[in-house]
Amino acid sequence: MLKELIDKFYLDREHDRGQDHFYITDAGKCARSIFFKFKKAPRKELEARVLRMFDHGNHIHQLIMKALSAVRRIHVVAAEINIPPQEIISGRADAILSLDNELYILDIKSINSMIFGKLEAPKEDHNNQLQLYLHFFNIPKGIILYVSKDTQDLKEFLVPYDAKVAEKLLKNLQDLKTKIETDTIPQPLPERPDNWQCKYCQFADVCAKVGEKELSWGEFKKQIEAEEIR
Ligand code: SF4
Repeated sequence: MLKELIDKFYLDREHDRGQDHFYITDAGKCARSIFFKFKKAPRKELEARVLRMFDHGNHIHQLIMKALSAVRRIHVVAAEINIPPQEIISGRADAILSLDNELYILDIKSINSMIFGKLEAPKEDHNNQLQLYLHFFNIPKGIILYVSKDTQDLKEFLVPYDAKVAEKLLKNLQDLKTKIETDTIPQPLPERPDNWQCKYCQFADVCAKVGEKELSWGEFKKQIEAEEIR
């Protein structure tokens, strides 16, 4: 009764979600999967349960910010703050904090306890995102704060700005923008299908059909339309 209605709410919301520009969360991700999102390629729908888990992560962020805002030694300079507008990418940092007169970008990540227990350094994709926040806000260091979803344990990593990483990420996005504009499907990840991104990829079926090389999106669409008619 209610379950079906709640599931429908999440699924409809996800269904309406397209993509027409890059987000910070795209930084360092598989270029081909981002290309497919822009082109609205056929994809495996996420389950409503998974979409609710994303919402739960947002709720955890709010709890952490509530605690930080109440600590006198910390000044929350800004929360949920958009990166300065520019052409290539948009994104919203969780917070800019001032602690002992030093500024930090804060990025809060909620993860399951299995991954949390093994973490000895920030995950690469989280480091990538933070590097771009540091780049666009021109702040030299940040903190990635992990929250274990199941146990509510916390783990934090202090991360300095690395200009080389940020510039490489931006160059890759610029290259991908050109491929999107010229309808060229990028190469897959070199470790496909063993890369962790492939295991969760909604476009894995389409990706397998394209194969290992770059391909014209127009040609590929004709190919799948012909297969559907047969
Ligand atoms: S299956 Fe892997 S390589 Fe292919 S689009 Fe998805 S993430 Fe990229």
